[in-house]
Amino acid sequence: MPRKISGRNRHAAENFGEEQACCGKLRRGTDMPRKTLGGMEMARMTGKNNLTSKQFNRGLLLKLIATQNCRTRIELSKATGLTKMTVTNIVSEFIQQGLVAEREEVQTEVCGRNPILLEISGKAPKVIGLLIFRDRIEAVLCTLSMQKLASESIHFDSLTKEQLYAHCFSVIDRLLEKEKNIFGIGVAAIGPVDIWKGVILNPPRFYGIQNVPVREALEKRYALPVFFDHDNNSAALAELLFGIGRNVQDFLFVGISNGIGSGIVSGGRVYHSHRGLPPEIGHISIDRRGPLCACGNRGCLELYANTHIVLEKLRAAKGRAFSGERCAGPGDALSANFCRAEEGASFADFCREEGASFADFCRAPQTAETEEIFEEMLQDVSAALVTSVNILHPEMIVLGHDCIDWDERLVGRLEELVNERKVVHDQRPLPVKKAYFGKEAQLIGAACNAVDQMFRGFV
Ligand SMILES: [Zn+2]
Repeated sequence: MPRKISGRNRHAAENFGEEQACCGKLRRGTDMPRKTLGGMEMARMTGKNNLTSKQFNRGLLLKLIATQNCRTRIELSKATGLTKMTVTNIVSEFIQQGLVAEREEVQTEVCGRNPILLEISGKAPKVIGLLIFRDRIEAVLCTLSMQKLASESIHFDSLTKEQLYAHCFSVIDRLLEKEKNIFGIGVAAIGPVDIWKGVILNPPRFYGIQNVPVREALEKRYALPVFFDHDNNSAALAELLFGIGRNVQDFLFVGISNGIGSGIVSGGRVYHSHRGLPPEIGHISIDRRGPLCACGNRGCLELYANTHIVLEKLRAAKGRAFSGERCAGPGDALSANFCRAEEGASFADFCREEGASFADFCRAPQTAETEEIFEEMLQDVSAALVTSVNILHPEMIVLGHDCIDWDERLVGRLEELVNERKVVHDQRPLPVKKAYFGKEAQLIGAACNAVDQMFRGFV
């Protein structure tokens, strides 16, 4: 049961639920990001709002059904404070519109009528998520409950602006061949981005491509609403709606890859700054006398703990440690990739020539030297996390990207470091968890950017 929704509406009586919802809506009107629906601004800081209470309630009920937080009309009524009549009326509309279907749960040991369960109908529209990364473009076709129906991807190691558009159109076209009933397209892109305009600005190491108006291009080609956000904000949204943060109001999503990015969930909403820029935890300085970062600051976390740098250290260390060691075959505890290496190759050769991945090193047996490298990485990451935790006081930290490859011991050690050093020491330890959607959090998050608009009442 969603904690704060039920809390907000627990005193509801006739119409009070709608009033609460309306208050929620108005509050949203003042703090929601100026995302757009088909290019139309939905809400601004002035508090203007074009949502009616009924639209808000419809979005809320659809969200609770799609996320499976509520499975019956009674549960919906209890969770929202809306009257049973209001819930019944809205659910009836959903059923007529083909958004929601009823299913009778067969109970073998309980007398009486079987409960009627509500779920997203197979006839309901689907959403497409588009993820734009440095090395690939992926698209996914999902139900409103985030069940993956199909996905497409294109990988590259060079790119022009024209190819970027062509790849986006290609993966989306292929999904549209499978499904025509689409509510909208959600986009998650590497930053920096202008989320209000739907433009990728000037990402570093992105083949010199700058100022790409992705949303405009997609809207023009497909005549569908397009919803655009930063990749880690999108991942945070996916975890909030359907993942490990679904019952958490405040959490910090941290994605470590060749950069270190983050997304903040505050008060049950993904935080968007007035400029739409995502929180850059990777550029928190952990040493003011450290090396100069491209951002202009010194000693940024990203300079010490990004996957690329840690991997280089591991390759060097493991190469030395395992110099001359022979692959013992598939039964050996070494990584799968290593075992695919040519028989008789040394681990040192493999590391240098075949390129053991970060995931390989996480799975491989550790030496004192690699343990030390991982510990150093965790110390660096925890330094920036503690700073963030002391400011935000989240309920949870969610790890994504290459952290998904981490051994649970590494996750546990990071949790230990953060809890030792955060300013508030009480009986409520701060959990550190891996993302429910793993390395797909950003991709599923892209689709969530679209479905979230339905949950806000634009259905
Ligand atoms: Zn920096």
